[in-house]
Amino acid sequence: MSTAGPQLRFCPESNDLLYPKEDKDRKVLIYVCRNCGYSEDAPSDNWCVYRNEIKHSQRERTVILQDVRDDPTLPRTKDVTCPSCQNHEAVFFSASTEEGTTLFFNCTACGHRWRDYV
Ligand SMILES: [Zn+2]
Ligand SMILES: [Zn+2]
Repeated sequence: MSTAGPQLRFCPESNDLLYPKEDKDRKVLIYVCRNCGYSEDAPSDNWCVYRNEIKHSQRERTVILQDVRDDPTLPRTKDVTCPSCQNHEAVFFSASTEEGTTLFFNCTACGHRWRDYV
């Protein structure tokens, strides 16, 4: 069984979950650790998947509007604070929108959705 969801990546220094982020200067996808500052380029095969997903903007728009709290393919983080209920766990994913690459968070407690402009 294979899943099309993004792979979880972990920091080799501190074992924390790495966050997908766009390197604005180089226009590439990188993974960063918010704990120790470690960062690495996303592997090129991963980057291809990422590019393919940009083409499927119709599907992405659907995902953006969905409540993804129950989606097991999406990574979770406990390193955020929900602006609505102050909960510290959220499902997150990146998607391409009119404004560019955006990181979306979906609070696991109240379902509040917010963006982190990268
Ligand atoms: Zn780290
Ligand atoms: Zn919340």
